[in-house]
Amino acid sequence: MNINTNYENLEQSYLFSTIAKKVNEFSNAHPDAKIIRLGIGDVTLPLCNAVIKAMHKAVDEMGNQSTFRGYGPEQGYDFLRTAVQGYYKTHNVDLDLDEIFISDGAKSDLGNILDLFAKENTVLVPDPVYPVYVDTNVMAGRTVIFANANKENGFLPMPDESAKADIIYICSPNNPTGAVYNKEQLKKWVDYALALNAVILYDAAYECFISDSSLPRSIFEIEGAKNCAIEFCSLSKTAGFTGTRCGYTIVPKNLEKLNKMWLRRQTTKFNGVPYIVQRAAEAVFTEEGQKEIKENIGYYKENAKIISDTLEKCGIWHVGGKHSPYIWLKCPDNMSSWEFFDKLLNDLQIVGTPGAGFGKNGEGFFRLTSFGSKENTVEAMKRFENAYLK
Ligand SMILES: *Cc1c(COP(=O)(O)O)cnc(C)c1O
Repeated sequence: MNINTNYENLEQSYLFSTIAKKVNEFSNAHPDAKIIRLGIGDVTLPLCNAVIKAMHKAVDEMGNQSTFRGYGPEQGYDFLRTAVQGYYKTHNVDLDLDEIFISDGAKSDLGNILDLFAKENTVLVPDPVYPVYVDTNVMAGRTVIFANANKENGFLPMPDESAKADIIYICSPNNPTGAVYNKEQLKKWVDYALALNAVILYDAAYECFISDSSLPRSIFEIEGAKNCAIEFCSLSKTAGFTGTRCGYTIVPKNLEKLNKMWLRRQTTKFNGVPYIVQRAAEAVFTEEGQKEIKENIGYYKENAKIISDTLEKCGIWHVGGKHSPYIWLKCPDNMSSWEFFDKLLNDLQIVGTPGAGFGKNGEGFFRLTSFGSKENTVEAMKRFENAYLK
């Protein structure tokens, strides 16, 4: 046999292992230090009550002969697809049920969708960004080019007419920067994709953090998007499902071939999300579920505000935080990402994530997250203010 040598072209990522190693070394040398972690990329609040009730009920059904379920439809039960359809309706997007595909999360679908595209396509990925987009394409041997996000464009790169791409990734609100596109900006991306006959792969994993109704929560709020975009979303960050696993992907029927191919791909290679988990996901979209998850998101957003208010006070340039759990800041005193990491850890015992780990344009920047507790966030920002308030 011959192996897929494209795997040899993957860049090794030492980001999280290096962070863990440095934090370990520090805490071994300073066992009494209270280290506060603002680098967490995972939710911390538990599943809400509506979800837990629905799961318990579904577990009981599975233990009863008359309500037991075996294999379900690969693309998800209609009860959940209908709930997702109703959710999109609340931001004025009309979807047909057979445009909605339930999955075990956005990461797998973002990787799996690439089954539908030829190897020869050129892929455009923002830099910095969630590393999955680049790595999944490198594994398949595709050429990846980058859209530069930087301080000048507020970390929201716009289409470059001279660059030709076939597959375009957009993540808004963005991980790691927290920056959000408005409707006019997304319209330019949609027009660009339509002109090139390209497809946009739109990652909406953080849409729930958007609280300004004029900002788009779905690319399908943009005219023309149903002719060029596929949207990925997940309950991971919106409802604390990172360990429970459920997401959904929207493949519009206007993309007739892709919609049929995705159905074929899923029915061939995927056997669906557990019934119990789909019932849990359905509960997220009920009135009670929505109220409860909004409380959790509100908690994270309050932390984000504490962080961005502190940075503002200290005169440190940053984006994100308002419609995102992530705050992206320019390292003070022109430090590199890792220099600032070391300084925060050694001087203030705060752990964050070096921006350089998300792409070359991340160098000199730093990500803080609002997934910690309020108490810790407040304390970390007090330390920050003492060190940086001029
Ligand atoms: C966390 C995250 C996801 C969600 O992945 P799941 O597989 O659904 O847990 C997707 N995209 C981005 C950018 C993320 O940060």
